[in-house]
Amino acid sequence: MMKRHFSLVTFILTGVALLALPIRSQQPRIQGTAISQAQSPSAPLPQQNPSPGTNISQTPPVAPSQEIPGLTVVLDPAHGGTDFGARGPTGLSESDVVLDFARAARIALEAQRLRVLLTREGNQDPSFDNRSAMINGLRNAIFVSLHVSSSGPVGTARSYYYVFPSDPMPVTSPTATATTAPQTPSAPQTAPSQITARTTLIEWDHAQRSSVDLSRQLATLIQTELLPRFKGSPEMPIAAPVRQLRTIAAPAIAIELSNIDVTDAKRLEQMAQPLADAIGRAVAEFHYPFNPAAAASTGR
Ligand SMILES: [Zn+2]
Repeated sequence: MMKRHFSLVTFILTGVALLALPIRSQQPRIQGTAISQAQSPSAPLPQQNPSPGTNISQTPPVAPSQEIPGLTVVLDPAHGGTDFGARGPTGLSESDVVLDFARAARIALEAQRLRVLLTREGNQDPSFDNRSAMINGLRNAIFVSLHVSSSGPVGTARSYYYVFPSDPMPVTSPTATATTAPQTPSAPQTAPSQITARTTLIEWDHAQRSSVDLSRQLATLIQTELLPRFKGSPEMPIAAPVRQLRTIAAPAIAIELSNIDVTDAKRLEQMAQPLADAIGRAVAEFHYPFNPAAAASTGR
């Protein structure tokens, strides 16, 4: 679950368990140092696609491809620990489901001889910044955060890339519904000193700015691969100020599948392999423009 799908009161009571985010008051960006972290008023909700395709195409798994040297994929099963994320009627929790998704995706990516890291291997709950730190210390890496929503047509999937709230919101999803996040003036300031200390080469709170275009490219590739596997999904990725992505100095996207409210957990289990295949194919396609050295070495 990436945003509120319930009332403001519920939101407050349940705390900021989601990517729906520490939010500071709106303020203009001044010399690149102050930026609103508020959810943009035009940030889209997960798609309410009118044609809830629930068929998952049985596409063959990704064949082990040519070796793709030097790329690390950091898979981020969101939530964890006491943060269960979205909860289903059968007790299913998003934090468990996305961990299974990440494990399946790791197998698919390792079959492509990619290095794969998970931001958590079990039921831990690393902070947003600790998850970001895992990739910000790497060269030639991409970040894929995994979520399951509490709404949306079952069997659909959406990819997200980061847009800074102070920037113009790209128009990529005409069906997006406006939402307004609550203001929390007492939200703590980000960029604690220990973080700025270990990432002196990047401006932590703006880390994603240097990678927005690549992230959008990656999200587009992913969405293209998700579409045939998750019928009824939007054709284009969604731009949104997803908190986790902001502090990552590398191509970074989030993928959200619908939804946790299935009465049969197998419906979600069945999404793991096509999701893994989609990520594997998109990463392979993405890698070549992203890493010219690798492209040259493989003749592409
Ligand atoms: Zn989530």
